[in-house]
Amino acid sequence: MTWQATILTLFPEMFPGPLGLSLAGKALREGRWAIEAMDIRGFATDRHRTVDDTPFGGGAGMVMRPDVLDAACEAATAANPGAPLVYLTPRGRLLDQALVRELSAGPGVVVLCGRYEGVDQRVIEARNMVEVSAGDFVLSGGEPAALLLLDACIRLLPGVMGGAASAAEESHGTDGLLEYPHYTRPAEWQGHRVPDVLLSGHHAEVARWRRAEAEAATRARRPDLWDQFTRRMAEQPNTAKAGRLDGHPAAA
Ligand code: SAM
Repeated sequence: MTWQATILTLFPEMFPGPLGLSLAGKALREGRWAIEAMDIRGFATDRHRTVDDTPFGGGAGMVMRPDVLDAACEAATAANPGAPLVYLTPRGRLLDQALVRELSAGPGVVVLCGRYEGVDQRVIEARNMVEVSAGDFVLSGGEPAALLLLDACIRLLPGVMGGAASAAEESHGTDGLLEYPHYTRPAEWQGHRVPDVLLSGHHAEVARWRRAEAEAATRARRPDLWDQFTRRMAEQPNTAKAGRLDGHPAAA
């Protein structure tokens, strides 16, 4: 079945953009995923095609109108039934690999890209949107975040990546660790040698070294992930729990 991405945006020409190239582009041409970018302005009802208005309570900027967005969401969910409706916002739960895995395993996603100061709260609640943030920074619009979210999902779709093992082993894989460092030829470069163990041909030693490097990097760089990892190992050795769309850890 084709994984369907439906994007609600004021800038439909931004899609598929970079997702039309490389791995995602090839998968798009092969029909492994499909994309429809819907212009929110097409759901405005006045002759100026207005999508925003001033905020109640005053303040800077404009807010996207709930009536226009609701009509847009209706069309998008009809075109992509069963797909969760994600509103990209810095107020949302942080995007992580558990959510990416969950979305890529489903039928697809409807993504609402905000602009201006954001979206009227009533339509977020009425449409039961899943609010997702690309990170603790503010973009000028949801479109770059949508490209990021889609890229992460598409590479996990069946047949898109070469080695099935690579997704499990890489950073934020099933064990929740950052990945070990990589090396390639030449074996010596500017006086720096590749670690001897990687040239040894001893697979078990290589695996042990990589695991130790992954653990050391996670402990040093991401104490938050390291804490989660050690807690998970204590509770359930050999198991990594997936996240859920509502932001709570999945039940064991
Ligand atoms: N006033 C909003 C706030 O402070 O939370 C920021 C609005 S931002 C200028 C306009 C739009 O960009 C948002 O509605 C959202 O769709 C998108 N956006 C900005 N930063 C984002 C982030 N970190 N993750 C996801 N979407 C983001």
